[in-house]
Amino acid sequence: MNENPPSKNLAIEGGEPAREKTFPPMFPGGNLIDREEEQSVLDALRHKRLFRYYGPEPGPSKVEELEAAFAAHFGANRALALTSGTASLVCGLQGIGIGPGDEVILPAYTWIASASAVAAVGAIPVVAEVDESLTLDPQDVERRISPYTKAIMPVHMRGMPCQMDALMDLARRYQLKVIEDVAQADGASYHGRRLGTFGDVGCFSLQFNKIITSGEGGMLITNDEEVWKRAVMFHDVIGGMRNQLPAEEILWGINFRMPELLAAVMIIQLRRLEGLLEAMRQRKRMLIEGIASVAREKGVRLQHVHDPDGDASIALIFFMESSEQARKTAATLDAENIPASVIYKPGSIDYHIYAHWTPIVQQRTWTAGGGPWCWAHRKVNYTPEECPRSLDLLGRAVHIDVNPLLSNSDIEETVEGMNKVFGAMG
Ligand SMILES: *Cc1c(COP(=O)(O)O)cnc(C)c1O
Repeated sequence: MNENPPSKNLAIEGGEPAREKTFPPMFPGGNLIDREEEQSVLDALRHKRLFRYYGPEPGPSKVEELEAAFAAHFGANRALALTSGTASLVCGLQGIGIGPGDEVILPAYTWIASASAVAAVGAIPVVAEVDESLTLDPQDVERRISPYTKAIMPVHMRGMPCQMDALMDLARRYQLKVIEDVAQADGASYHGRRLGTFGDVGCFSLQFNKIITSGEGGMLITNDEEVWKRAVMFHDVIGGMRNQLPAEEILWGINFRMPELLAAVMIIQLRRLEGLLEAMRQRKRMLIEGIASVAREKGVRLQHVHDPDGDASIALIFFMESSEQARKTAATLDAENIPASVIYKPGSIDYHIYAHWTPIVQQRTWTAGGGPWCWAHRKVNYTPEECPRSLDLLGRAVHIDVNPLLSNSDIEETVEGMNKVFGAMG
């Protein structure tokens, strides 16, 4: 009866889907919240210890414990706990001395928060192209360095390490600061060294979508005592006094202090990080091995990885030859219950792509004559022509979550489904 070519088996054309149901939601750390997090929060509550510096009874602070554990885990001298990843970027920028008129080079592909943080300190975000790893392209960064450039912000998007040797080399040659945005790459590394420890400062987010999470929250790490002091002073209106910094050096700050209840959750989540990374790395390897030959045959190109061992492995990304083909492939995979999406679709607003950062692109200010662009030394642009290669790559990029909860049979079905979809391509 079945006279059909293989493409007839595609679910999108009425065939049997490769998988019965879609993937579980992608909340790697969030999905693991369990008794231990509960116990830790209860412990803080029972001591009525909700504020890092004191409570009704004497006793240890969870935030302080988290800072020590986080610094040790990532191999940094200092860690500072904050209310969000964005707060950590703002404190990091204050820490390295970025201010009005300074330019900070960041990638065309990152969450808008990276750019907002730069604007928040009065500095100008300058977008640069990403390479085939979808992270900051060092060659393009070099082209965009101006006399006003003060810092580079590599963003390790979707768990992918940036090419840190080339970026650090640029920073040294041009005397620029480096602030790493590690919000999406907790625990990932580049040639054996943890991300966040290459730059002058590394900034993490603990928001619910991230690898490990306390719902909201952020962390900053640094080996530079001066950066730490400045960040401490900015994150707490009396941070300088509390940390007994020399009175005449104390600067004003605002409050971004982490609450004890967040730290209570995060202490436990941090212990789950290596297990999560191992689970995601193993699953990504199995997926890649399973699809490699059909993908090669069909001209599907996997995302370039600057250090495969360092990749946090939260996502499997591949490029199709055209954006149209990418959209078709994503829809075809979706129908197989393999949730896939194209990263950049010009018509649908997504604040991960600079071209969609409307408030930034249109250089809107909070007040007439307000910053940061009114304070710029020169005109900067955010037109689509600014980073055409990034938009081309992102428009052809198909993204699949590598969910740590996928079982071996989930992986097998996913591999079969992907091979079916690739195989049906002309
Ligand atoms: C999530 C995220 C941030 C901001 O973190 P929040 O905790 O949401 O403020 C910054 N940069 C990147 C790349 C992110 O993914």
